[in-house]
Amino acid sequence: MTFSIHGQAVARGIAMGRATLLAPSRVDVAHYFVAPEQIPGELQRLQAARGAVAAELQRLQGELPKDAPAELAALLDVHLMLLQDQPFDDGVRQWIQERRYNAEWALTTQLELVVRQFEEMEDEYLRERKADLEQVIERVLRHLKGAATPVTAAPPPPRAQAAPPQAQEQQNVPLVLVAHDLSPADMLQFKKSVFAGFVTDVGGKTSHTAIVARSMDIPAVVGARSASQLVQQDDWVIIDGDAGVVIVDPSPIILADYAFKQRQGELERSRLGRLRTTPSVTLDGQKIELLANIEQPGDTQAALAVSAVGVGLFRSEFLFMGRAGQLPDEEEQYRAYRAAVEGMQGLPVTIRTVDVGADKPLDDRYDAAHLNPALGLRAIRWSLAEPAMFLTQLRAILRAAAHGKVQLLLPMLAHLGEIRQTLDWIDKARSQLDDRAQVHGPVALGAMIEVPAAALNLPLFLRHFDFLSIGTNDLIQYTLAIDRADESVAHLYDQLHPAVLHLVADTIAQARAAGKGVTVCGEMAGDPALTRLLLGFGLRSFSMHPSQILAVKQEILRADIGKLTEWARQVLASDEPQKLLLQAAAAR
Ligand code: PEP
Ligand code: MG
Repeated sequence: MTFSIHGQAVARGIAMGRATLLAPSRVDVAHYFVAPEQIPGELQRLQAARGAVAAELQRLQGELPKDAPAELAALLDVHLMLLQDQPFDDGVRQWIQERRYNAEWALTTQLELVVRQFEEMEDEYLRERKADLEQVIERVLRHLKGAATPVTAAPPPPRAQAAPPQAQEQQNVPLVLVAHDLSPADMLQFKKSVFAGFVTDVGGKTSHTAIVARSMDIPAVVGARSASQLVQQDDWVIIDGDAGVVIVDPSPIILADYAFKQRQGELERSRLGRLRTTPSVTLDGQKIELLANIEQPGDTQAALAVSAVGVGLFRSEFLFMGRAGQLPDEEEQYRAYRAAVEGMQGLPVTIRTVDVGADKPLDDRYDAAHLNPALGLRAIRWSLAEPAMFLTQLRAILRAAAHGKVQLLLPMLAHLGEIRQTLDWIDKARSQLDDRAQVHGPVALGAMIEVPAAALNLPLFLRHFDFLSIGTNDLIQYTLAIDRADESVAHLYDQLHPAVLHLVADTIAQARAAGKGVTVCGEMAGDPALTRLLLGFGLRSFSMHPSQILAVKQEILRADIGKLTEWARQVLASDEPQKLLLQAAAAR
């Protein structure tokens, strides 16, 4: 039966395919496909972890004091029995052999399947075994974590081989990913795979899951509430990334309708592709800088493919996440930054120092330790609290600057004290490199304006920095007190709220008046519906995911800034800016 689920539209386009479910897990597990030749090794890894847990449980049994309650011994028996349950084990092995899931992914998928069965049981005793099974599997997952195989990110198996009988008529059917949530680390992993689109239960328009979806340039819907409960493995799913709708088990008529829309989208894309080499200049001859946001050095290829004139934001934190606390050392970071610099072939690269925290936790332990992560020890606050880590990163960036034009960008600054400390650490990193006689290069220094306190105190920032970069994602979050990752308040996350527009317009105006560079690198920069408004505010430098550059360029080519300035002033003075934007769009 066809049904639809509504969420947040975050990455454009239509995707159709069979659902691959990613079960939630209390342990932060990696998800990747293993290559066919790795399957025996993966099965062995699973076996070894199960064996270790069995030994652990037996040891606990042996060490039980004589006066321990009888229930405790019985519970350990139940855990051992569940661990050795043959049908469960068969299921896990099947996920590894047929779908080529890594052992952790196979375990959580099978767990989810069995837990659902338990939940449907009448017998209360059996229903309660669900928690026991979860605990046992958690133990196995923790063992596996200590014995992880290197992630190779093999492509998923062809569907004819992997699909259940009812799907076998479909050769090479695209896969769409359905999950409760995706960690940024998982997202990067899947970036190398071939999912046609994805859906998550949680997340807002500018959550990092949504941001990485845009960088992958695949249709995505986040905040689709209970999608991961309602969609079943192998269900046919349509993801409408424009409307934020997920259609499950669509009828042939609906499928045909969406196939048509998909083709239209592809045509539009190829039409936009022709703008690749067109200079980014408005009708009245103003040159506009279009820069790329990247997460990994390899993303520079996509940036060059759309003729970005540099990287306006390299989110370096993606090098740090999902590594179970093992931070990248100076050499690893230097190689990554250098690869990005060289990848841009002489064009400037803005490297932002690590911005972990909030919805970009370092790992699952970090998450659990913070009461309100968005207001907690994130971004520059974490860097200043971990000077050895910060100095390591600064040295790596300064060394990479010897290979090309590098700008150093600092996230989430708000206080003079933070600015002073940050500048001191940068000097210190330079002098450490001098002491080592290690080559390093000059860097322009920039501050992210993403906390209202910074946007309301711009002269301080303009005195200390060479350029500003407006992080609208956080600026909106902190101005409106709306968690950007929380779908339950996503309707209040308003990029056109007059307060937000005033802060953005003011930052642009003050930076320009001071003769300093100013870029918008938040998601507003990549939204073609806002291009004219930002041009009217005086913005001449936009940084966004490569996938958005051509659509924004199209708006620039049609814009006449002479006419936009007064209109932007009216929008800024209005209580209902949205209305004015809609009127202007309708009049075109
Ligand atoms: C922003 O806040 O707008 C920004 C660009 O930084 P991030 O999205 O990585 O927090
Ligand atoms: Mg930010």
